[in-house]
Amino acid sequence: MKKKKSKYIFVLGGVMSGIGKGIASSSIGTILKSRGYEVTAIKIDPYVNVDAGTMNPTEHGEVFVLESGLETDQDMGNYERFMGITLPKGNYMTTGSVYQRVIQRERNLEYKGKCVQVIPHVTDEIIKTIRKAGESNGAQIVITEIGGTIGDYENLLFMEAARQMKLKNPEDVLFVVISYVPFPNKIGEMKTKPTQQAIRQLNSSGINPNIIIARSEIPLDKIRKEKLALFCNVDKNDVISAPDVESIYEVPLNFEKDDLSKRILKKLNLSIKNQNLTDWEKLVKKIHRLKNSLRIGIVGKYFETGDFILADSYISVIEAIKHAGYKNGIKTEIEWINSEDFEKDNKKLKELKNYAGIIVPGGFGSRGIEGKIKVIEYVRKNKIPFLGLCYGMQLMVVEYARHQLGFKDAHTTEINPQTKYPVIDILPEQKEKLKKKNYGGSMRLGVYPAILEKNTLARKAYQKKEIKERHRHRYEVNPNYIKELEKAGLIFSGRSPQGDLMEIAELPQKKHPFFLATQFHPEFTSSPLKGHPLFNAFIKTAKELQLK
Ligand code: GLN
Repeated sequence: MKKKKSKYIFVLGGVMSGIGKGIASSSIGTILKSRGYEVTAIKIDPYVNVDAGTMNPTEHGEVFVLESGLETDQDMGNYERFMGITLPKGNYMTTGSVYQRVIQRERNLEYKGKCVQVIPHVTDEIIKTIRKAGESNGAQIVITEIGGTIGDYENLLFMEAARQMKLKNPEDVLFVVISYVPFPNKIGEMKTKPTQQAIRQLNSSGINPNIIIARSEIPLDKIRKEKLALFCNVDKNDVISAPDVESIYEVPLNFEKDDLSKRILKKLNLSIKNQNLTDWEKLVKKIHRLKNSLRIGIVGKYFETGDFILADSYISVIEAIKHAGYKNGIKTEIEWINSEDFEKDNKKLKELKNYAGIIVPGGFGSRGIEGKIKVIEYVRKNKIPFLGLCYGMQLMVVEYARHQLGFKDAHTTEINPQTKYPVIDILPEQKEKLKKKNYGGSMRLGVYPAILEKNTLARKAYQKKEIKERHRHRYEVNPNYIKELEKAGLIFSGRSPQGDLMEIAELPQKKHPFFLATQFHPEFTSSPLKGHPLFNAFIKTAKELQLK
């Protein structure tokens, strides 16, 4: 039998960024999956960076790590969480990665002496990557989100590739624009003009949208829908209302209020199969019913850009906390705690008693480190539930060595290469890479297995012996100190199968209700429907202690 071709949906953004293009793409994927289709999602980042690994999180938000180890954009995390899929590395591309491949082919003489040009060679490379991602995922529908906003120079080439795909196979390609419809207070009316202009600009690239998703504070009324339809050249039923919602997980259900999945399938000539969205309906009902609330503090440094707090730097951690809240039937209130505040003022530590749990997430560099170590000491001594992630585990070990082993200047060599007690040290394979200034994509990245020790918090949480989790780090617990740390009471409850890399550290429950940290990043695999075993266990303990 001839293999069926994939269909392609391109998601573009109009007017401005930050209006939820990633959530919209994920939600489109969710509703199409709910009608029995195999769906995959691709993210295009128009940056010149080859991947997201070298970007500061306050610049670009969290670096999301795929199973394969590729460092990508946070939207890849949204796709995986919403659609319950694991994405391979072919599903992420940047301007840098596309050019890198084209230049490599040119060097290999693959263009056979031709003048290598942006069109068709670079656009062909983009098209090839999109098609290949569809094939290798066995997807009937491929959703491709083009980063940035209509009118940006950077994404023009990707738009051009999409236009060519539509030109060749008009029935297989669909354009969805997520646009912003402001509702200015003083005017008292929703304004469609910015979207009209965005669409006009898109038209000048030879693309007409098939569907417009209008993001706004409140639902779109009939008049606004008709106006957008008329000026933007779409059917009025193809203007989908996307008002602000309490939880992002309501978005798929909201889209269905305007029959989005049916309209998409019809346009792509695909049959409209029965829908099963029961899990999502249950989840959203549950979210609306949540009572009480747990205050969870995240201690870190990547929060501020100017006067604003950029929660995007830790989006997977935030979502994992929320998911664990859903699982445990309790609302979670997340607060940002700047670790530097504790460096000047010891009295501030007392404020940590107001939290049901504290998380020290991943990070790099020296700023705020002593503050984090003070926080860990305080929550350890005051039995406040604690979850450390990556750097959080390394600093937990530093704190323990300093205060329980009396190794006064114990440290990670990332911060103090001269320390007398390098309890956290660089991975041997990383030493060489650093010497060559090879920073991009050079950490211990992606999924690795770990074996869990019996009768530990970790084993109880996972309910199994072997796990696999995603990593992104250069340093690790120094094997030379493991015996001493264990003697002083720290348990390494998760280790690599060879037993040489420490993956989870914890204190016994008789000493502390929940004091556990991981060298990997459990937040990357948490999902709204299931949560993650460690986050679920952390929130469970926090809840039990608060309700006591
Ligand atoms: N900076 C630490 C390392 O490179 C921790 C990294 C992280 O938290 N992701 O090992």
